[in-house]
Amino acid sequence: MDLEQIYQKALRLVPINNEEGTSLYKYAPVEDLMFIANKLRQVHNPGNIVGWMIDRNVNLTNICFSQCTFCNFCRKKGSDDAYITSTEEYITKIDELYSLGGDQLLLQGGMNPDLDISFYIDLFRNLKKLYPSLKLHALGPPEIVYLAKKERLSFAEVLSRLAEAGLDSLPGAGAEILSDRVRKVVSPAKSTTPEWLDVMREAHKLNLPTSATMMYGHIETIEERIEHLILIRDLQAERPPNHYGFITFVPWPFQDEGTVLREKHGIKSSYNGPDYIRMIAISRIILNNIRNIQASILTVGREIGMLSLHSGANDLGSIMIEENVVSAAGAKNRFDAKEMQSIIREAGFVPGRRNQKYELINTSPNTSG
Ligand code: SF4
Repeated sequence: MDLEQIYQKALRLVPINNEEGTSLYKYAPVEDLMFIANKLRQVHNPGNIVGWMIDRNVNLTNICFSQCTFCNFCRKKGSDDAYITSTEEYITKIDELYSLGGDQLLLQGGMNPDLDISFYIDLFRNLKKLYPSLKLHALGPPEIVYLAKKERLSFAEVLSRLAEAGLDSLPGAGAEILSDRVRKVVSPAKSTTPEWLDVMREAHKLNLPTSATMMYGHIETIEERIEHLILIRDLQAERPPNHYGFITFVPWPFQDEGTVLREKHGIKSSYNGPDYIRMIAISRIILNNIRNIQASILTVGREIGMLSLHSGANDLGSIMIEENVVSAAGAKNRFDAKEMQSIIREAGFVPGRRNQKYELINTSPNTSG
């Protein structure tokens, strides 16, 4: 396949197909991919601002029936350290979030079989009553599928009820790799590929802002990574005019420390820095209709995060005041507001603090460190 022809197609924002994407991933020199992705980043986000934000990841509960083989965080019901976060704990965490200048909670599962939709509705309403300016970026397609089955409701109905109760945006959690061959091994009890996509389709119709993610570097093939990107791009193309759709795409590598996937199946993370750069660049090239590409600095660290900004990424995500899932599997990077901004400047860009909708915020965070 003629790589030059694919480059030209990509630069004209013409959707490239699975075979072309696979050829780019496997055979294109990384410097070519970086060059093209960087040009495309300028098309979608002219200028030199790199986004970052302050939010807090709070886990609603660590009880989860799913028992994904890459997850060290989940506990079975009845475990000594199983929990459901209490209102008092939310208040302490949100007060701290506000004191650091943030106003968004990323609320994630487990999928606790004892919690039904009324639990989430009551929780969202209560948090919004206590903190009217709080933004809830909460749950994800697997939880929506689970609640829809449990309550015998459509995905649209579950999403509408949660949005009415205070859900502001839906994270692209639980995408891992959108291939049912892969999902049967890494997350067999979670939503299937068509279900994940259907939930997002409904969220886009309701104009709920969403994100898309990929957790790669385990058992998937290059072809499956490319297919994942194309499924997301094609769904984005379906969104109603002027609706948010996928605001951003975030790929991150499998963190293998102590996971069932590694300990029982011998699957180690295939992550390495140059491959992440390739992944970021390919994401920018294939996702010709998603404006923002975020590098996961929490999992790849400072240097690769900086290099990602020259390879198509225009965002470094959140300083994440609390994170319990990827850190339980070995992700050790942590940055405060000051460090995040200095990383962006060191990489040659201007830090732009933003909200979940990728709108710039002018106020300074209430933290110097
Ligand atoms: S990754 Fe999420 S859904 Fe899977 S076991 Fe862990 S908490 Fe449950």
